[in-house]
Amino acid sequence: MGVGTGELRTVPTLTPALSLEGRGSGGGGRLLGVVMKGHDGVWVFAEQEDGKLADVALELLSKGRELADTLETKLSAVLVGHKVEGLAGSLIAHGADEVLLGDDERLVDYTVGPYARVIVDAARERKPAIVVFGATTLGRDLAPHVASALTCGLTADCTDLQIGDFKDNVAKKTYEKLLYQIRPAFGGNVIATIVNPTGWPQMATVREGVMKMGDPDAKRKGAVTSLDVVLDEADLMTKVIRKERVEKSVDLKGAQVIVSGGAGVGSRENFKLIHELAHTLGAAVGASRAAVDGGFIDHDHQVGQTGTTVRPRLYIACGISGAIQHRAGMSESGKIVAINSDPAAPIFEVAHYGIVGDLNDVIPRLIEIYRKKSAH
Ligand code: FAD
Repeated sequence: MGVGTGELRTVPTLTPALSLEGRGSGGGGRLLGVVMKGHDGVWVFAEQEDGKLADVALELLSKGRELADTLETKLSAVLVGHKVEGLAGSLIAHGADEVLLGDDERLVDYTVGPYARVIVDAARERKPAIVVFGATTLGRDLAPHVASALTCGLTADCTDLQIGDFKDNVAKKTYEKLLYQIRPAFGGNVIATIVNPTGWPQMATVREGVMKMGDPDAKRKGAVTSLDVVLDEADLMTKVIRKERVEKSVDLKGAQVIVSGGAGVGSRENFKLIHELAHTLGAAVGASRAAVDGGFIDHDHQVGQTGTTVRPRLYIACGISGAIQHRAGMSESGKIVAINSDPAAPIFEVAHYGIVGDLNDVIPRLIEIYRKKSAH
């Protein structure tokens, strides 16, 4: 059974054996009896604000392309807003075969009601097999509304998506080519693979920075298809009166070099060592959660499962033990240097270069050496 040609069946239990979390509001343990017949295609929600695409939309198109190619189906970007058609070219260049455009002046600012309505109406009509959103503030608001209205599952904060088969031992049935929705669970101590053999579309949100953005190909061709935008009063109950933007104090995602400090730095005062090394190298400052919780630096700087996922060319971890939740956010860095006084610290398992020592000795020496070298 391939995706899009699934056969009609009644679901014996609502929760598939591998599923750790959620179904939409139609869930709750009753029989759904949803059919997968006719579901086809991969959709990526193309998040934009004020006409600027979110990076995660382009990252997801790269992954979406891979999924669509594996399933031998079409990749569509779902673009909702007003006067945003100009973004279609970029979406196609990043892998979309088609842009589904919901354009209306009432969609100029994001509110969940009308955005969800446009996507739900389109999904009911076109029956995608897979719909993915960025796990941004907006995506985390929108995706559950869409999943709830479509009474389908939703796995939040995935760190990987793959296509694979699932053997349901209870129903004695094998489902082919399902979406593996992969994410840390139980505080990050296990990596769970979640499948949704019934109640499609299969839906997931994916954290920013987790998927690698591919290079755009300006020669790619694709179609732009307008969606019907039908909104009623109930969809438009929330009005945006004023928008205020608070910029993040650091751009970790865009940084090529990051110097991160952990609990081993000891205090907010001593964190100036991290700032100094970062300043010397022209790097951004990151931190572990323990450093953030300790008040050494604010949360915008946190790297990891509940912070930012980063992929710099160079990541220097100072006084960070390398807990799995921290590694989840930095292990894809080009080169990792770890400074830790404990030779058995797990950070050394992912580090390309390790320095066993007291960061209070090592960092000033690194700064001195770097300054001397760059003076020549
Ligand atoms: P520690 O584990 O205390 O390690 C400090 C390290 O510093 C030790 O290895 C020690 O040997 C070394 N050290 C001490 N003194 C010195 C010195 N003078 N010189 C050199 N080295 C020294 N953590 C994150 O970082 N990011 C997340 O996003 C995140 N999300 C989480 C989500 C969940 C659901 C949970 C349960 C946890 C999460 N955590 C996260 C917390 C994570 O489990 C760890 O507790 C945290 O990463 C530890 O931070 P740390 O390595 O700075 O501190």
